[in-house]
Amino acid sequence: MSMYLNKDAVLTGDSSLVFQLNKEAKEKQMAGNKVINATLGTLLDEKGRVSSFPMIDELQKRCMNSESKGYAQIDGGDLYNNNMVKWVFQERLDSCLEKYNVASVATAGGTGALFIAIHNYVEDNQKLLIPDIGWTNYEAIALNMQKRVDKYEIFDEDGKFNVDGILDKAIKEAERAKKVTLIINDPAHNPTGYTMSKKEWSALIKGLNALNSKFPVVLILDLAYMDFAKENRTFFEVIDSTKMKFVTLLACSLSKTLGLYGYRLGALIYVSTVNELQEFEVSSRLTIRATWSNPNHLGIRIFNEIMADEFLVKSLKKYLKDQIALLDKRKNHVLNKLGASLGKEYFEYKDGFFITFKHEEAGEHAKLLRNVMNIYVLPIQNKYLRFAICSFVK
Ligand code: PLP
Repeated sequence: MSMYLNKDAVLTGDSSLVFQLNKEAKEKQMAGNKVINATLGTLLDEKGRVSSFPMIDELQKRCMNSESKGYAQIDGGDLYNNNMVKWVFQERLDSCLEKYNVASVATAGGTGALFIAIHNYVEDNQKLLIPDIGWTNYEAIALNMQKRVDKYEIFDEDGKFNVDGILDKAIKEAERAKKVTLIINDPAHNPTGYTMSKKEWSALIKGLNALNSKFPVVLILDLAYMDFAKENRTFFEVIDSTKMKFVTLLACSLSKTLGLYGYRLGALIYVSTVNELQEFEVSSRLTIRATWSNPNHLGIRIFNEIMADEFLVKSLKKYLKDQIALLDKRKNHVLNKLGASLGKEYFEYKDGFFITFKHEEAGEHAKLLRNVMNIYVLPIQNKYLRFAICSFVK
């Protein structure tokens, strides 16, 4: 027991395994071995470099001046927030703006967006509902603010997306805590690559609407991989035709969309028929001010520059389409050529950066793959093996 460290400081949990495995794989590669490194969640091009929107270097030069060296506005400014809303809603923009109250603040990546959402929308007596298979950082963010979590089963016994199970869990938590906040990561769920269908979204929204008539419901929708799914705006299609009555907070990331992981840029967007926009904006700004203070000014200017130019927007959409095709090609290769070594069964993959295989004793199997075949994958909960097709370069 430390005498100096705060008693609430978090000391358990492992966020470094993936980086450790990546380092080991690279060292083996440097020593002249043929290695399959499928550890990191960063999209690499066919030459093993971080894949970014090709115009980024030129935009960076154009946008770097004395203004971008100075502080940005705390919430990123109206131009950036309007641009983010425009990018996220795309062709549903006008009709959704007619139906819903919408506001946005710039954040330090998708992680920053999740941080604000959890910080300001989960009460102390609540348990934040997160998927049992999912990004491990949800729990870490919550625990770092002394908030508790509970996990819903994302897939049922038949491997289907578990709308009924999620609603069941939400109802029980709402009855207990008199409010419920849940995270859904869609499309291109990390780590399975599942993307919800229109039918599943409709059923979930109807169920949450019913619950919201008794208790406040907050849905945090993690859109980190939104631009890497073939059907990527299903949620917006559904809320355009079915009135969503609860509060949704969209956690958006430009890390992956632009290939600017280190710039730490994203947004948290409030969407609801309930008008609590002022509360959202004021509380978000104060949380930003008290944490990272203000967002990356250069990144904001780059994104605003893209959105101001139709040609650049078209080029970005084309770049993203090419990345989806690249991921699809890699997925086919992995399933055809390596599937047998990784495991017989895998979660239904539709889109995104990862495929997850099911394997008893996943930790031991991952070790065997490393030692015998030089294949580096991430074991999860000793039950699954996450193969990062995004960083797998043949
Ligand atoms: N959500 C999921 C599911 C992720 O996998 C990640 C990053 O890997 C994030 C959010 C956060 O992204 P960012 O790098 O923009 O903070």
